[in-house]
Amino acid sequence: MGSDQLELFENFHSIDSDTEVKTCIKCKKKKPIDSFRATRTECRTCENKLERERRYLREITPAPPDDYVCPICGKEEKDLLGRGGKNNGAWVNDHNHETGDFRGYLCHSCNRNIGGFGDSIKCLRRAIKYLEKNDKKHN
Ligand SMILES: [Zn+2]
Ligand SMILES: [Zn+2]
Repeated sequence: MGSDQLELFENFHSIDSDTEVKTCIKCKKKKPIDSFRATRTECRTCENKLERERRYLREITPAPPDDYVCPICGKEEKDLLGRGGKNNGAWVNDHNHETGDFRGYLCHSCNRNIGGFGDSIKCLRRAIKYLEKNDKKHN
């Protein structure tokens, strides 16, 4: 969120001082706070939609084979089990957040990490350059 948007958001807040509102990051609609689950940044409607999409993607995507390794960190299922919380398997059904297209299976931490870069190839390339530059200094 840019600083302009943030300001706008705070203004909205002060205008609607009687009913607390929050802006959904998905549909960008301003909704009363009880339309959101406590820690969520998207409204319940969008959250449910996302969950339906995820479930659908799981159904249409065959599960990875037993000897599958994470294409990013190279870890195997046995290295990963339990990392994603009790009931989750080792793999995350990763999809493009813009188009909803299935991209592949990743481990939970790699999925979170590329999400942390906003799925931005540009940022990730810069991250590599940044690390390489610093690596050379130490060698
Ligand atoms: Zn929403
Ligand atoms: Zn991984």
